[in-house]
Amino acid sequence: MCRHTAWLGSPRTLEQLLVDPPSGLLKQSWAPRRQRHGTLNADGFGVGWFSEERSAPARYRRAAPLWADPSFASLAGVVRSGCVLAAVRSATPGGPAGEDACAPFLLPGGVLLSHNGVLPVEAVAPLVPSLALQQLGSTVDSAFLAALVAARLGDGLAAALAAAVVAVAEVAPGARLNLLATDGATVAATTWGDTLCWRVADGGTEVASEPSDDGSDWIDVPDRHLLELTPDGCSVVPLPGGPA
Ligand code: GLN
Repeated sequence: MCRHTAWLGSPRTLEQLLVDPPSGLLKQSWAPRRQRHGTLNADGFGVGWFSEERSAPARYRRAAPLWADPSFASLAGVVRSGCVLAAVRSATPGGPAGEDACAPFLLPGGVLLSHNGVLPVEAVAPLVPSLALQQLGSTVDSAFLAALVAARLGDGLAAALAAAVVAVAEVAPGARLNLLATDGATVAATTWGDTLCWRVADGGTEVASEPSDDGSDWIDVPDRHLLELTPDGCSVVPLPGGPA
């Protein structure tokens, strides 16, 4: 499993969000604390963020480990955003390598999406519109799931995530389907087989695969739930298919 995180709130630098926290995403790339599958997230990383300059988010993805990229370290202290989504990757065996396979994926409408987990491509492929997959530019299993979300975005971000997870779970009951996505104004996430938590922080809200520090204010999201973060607050509801 990979690890992912999102921030929605007043602008913070990537360094403040990902590098500075004692168990933040940088630390999680080599020493995750709650990861159930895999011990290291060294197969690349990606960061996406929204800015006032344009509606589409920026992305910085690399096939190298997060800790081994001096260019990221250089820009992290000066890139500031109120909406950031980032992930470190532990590639599923048999999947493609390279930055194209690293989250966040970019969906139509400027949606950033990350997936922690695994799904059998051969079982899911018949459900996936080929154009949506082609637009994602990767054949990694996560891209198939992202394409299913993309095809459902007309229903809203959280509803699209929920519907994609339920559709995959029906044909692949053993799949692990933790999704995290943002359109720049809201954040949505699912738990289906791995950990997720969130907390209200000074000036915003953090959502993460695991806590970035030892604060007691982190709230765990139960398995098979849908989290939706809007300017009005955070809601967590069971996904169809019921708690595990
Ligand atoms: N299956 C995805 C990949 O190969 C995600 C892997 C993970 O969550 N560790 O990138």
